[in-house]
Amino acid sequence: MRVELAKTFTFEAAHHLPHVPPGHKCRRLHGHSYRVEVVVRGEVDPELGWLMDFDQIKQAFEPLRLQLDHYYLNEIPGLENPTSEILARWIWERLAPVLPCLYRVSVAETCTSACHYYGEGTPP
Ligand SMILES: [Zn+2]
Repeated sequence: MRVELAKTFTFEAAHHLPHVPPGHKCRRLHGHSYRVEVVVRGEVDPELGWLMDFDQIKQAFEPLRLQLDHYYLNEIPGLENPTSEILARWIWERLAPVLPCLYRVSVAETCTSACHYYGEGTPP
């Protein structure tokens, strides 16, 4: 049985986007209540009846949450231009080595806007 497991995390952070045109609202310093969804995909272990413990996803993401929560994202190496797209890739690159079966990382800055990232070369 093939499944996807999704776990959602939240954190608060400030940022601005330095490369948007002057006058664009995202160029001003502001904050978001970010929502990150981490999705793993794979075969259910027939003995255990699960793909993995949800807590494994939480443990994998926690060091990243600690780096992001209540920080100014532009000051974090690799996030000098912290769009949702670049933040999703930043999270993916740090999760993939420690979280097997990683399939998707989604970053939502608002309730109505989200970026879904599947890693390089991974067909959705
Ligand atoms: Zn923003």
